[in-house]
Amino acid sequence: MAATVIDGAAVTREVYAQLEERVAALGRMNVRPGLAVCLAGDNAASKIYIRNKVRACNGAGIHSEIHPFDADCPQDVLLAALDKLNRNPRVHGILVQLPLPAQLDAELVTNAIAPEKDVDGMTRHSLGALVAGHPLHEPCTPRAVMALLDHAGIAIDGREAVVVGRSAIVGKPMALMLMARGATVTVCHSRTPDLARHARRADILVVAAGRARLVTADMVKPGAAVLDVGINRIAGQGIVGDVDYAGVREIAGWITPVPGGVGPMTIAMVIANTVRAAERSAAVSAA
Ligand code: NAD
Repeated sequence: MAATVIDGAAVTREVYAQLEERVAALGRMNVRPGLAVCLAGDNAASKIYIRNKVRACNGAGIHSEIHPFDADCPQDVLLAALDKLNRNPRVHGILVQLPLPAQLDAELVTNAIAPEKDVDGMTRHSLGALVAGHPLHEPCTPRAVMALLDHAGIAIDGREAVVVGRSAIVGKPMALMLMARGATVTVCHSRTPDLARHARRADILVVAAGRARLVTADMVKPGAAVLDVGINRIAGQGIVGDVDYAGVREIAGWITPVPGGVGPMTIAMVIANTVRAAERSAAVSAA
């Protein structure tokens, strides 16, 4: 039987409806959540991502501002801008859109964001807090995957989970978050000799490798939940995921499409983290 398709766009609409109430409650306290996005250079994909985030902010009643920097912007200029945003009370969340131009040290720049405003959960502080089991802001893409699993009613505790990809922003935090919810987690990566052997054990298979159609039907356990994080632009085909959707759909129990699965939910989680940051800041001001 074909898998249940987890419709990220539909789940996202429910998330926004819940956020609307929280934004309204903040409004009654004269607080409007604010998100600042820094963009250096003019990477076409980054511009699309930012446009989508700004659109999401507008839809959710959140203030957003874009801070553009030239492609040859010196590092101290960007760091000075981040310092200013860190101290700006109207701004509750800050994003630095990656990739950055080569002369900028992405690690250094990202870590200049104040922990309480790191709504992407990308700083060492955020990742360390996640490892320690006390996350402040969880990285948005793994948080989106968890929210989709929960919305679909997929059990996590005691299940076998396999994460393909070990990046600091998706694979590693994903593994930690699944582990924190009681899954037994295997992390596979580019040096894993037999990916299929591991993937076939998974009740929950999260794929974040950035390799078009890497996971095929023969690598999936019948009935498994398959969450496709990958975004691959292929000439003439548009955007495809890391999972061979047509084949895997026939064997999996649940599957997320690309586009329309994890992507929209990730943006909703940026907004959710910004609202939470504003709530925390309002609580501190009220105390
Ligand atoms: P990355 O390039 O930093 O990491 C990719 C990981 O995949 C690496 O750990 C690598 O070891 C592993 N990998 C590569 N080839 C592999 C193979 N053949 N077998 C097993 N593992 C392999 O990428 P990332 O930032 O983690 O992003 C991964 C994908 O997710 C990309 O396509 C990216 O565009 C997408 N992404 C989507 C969202 C979203 O909102 N949906 C958010 C972030 C990233």
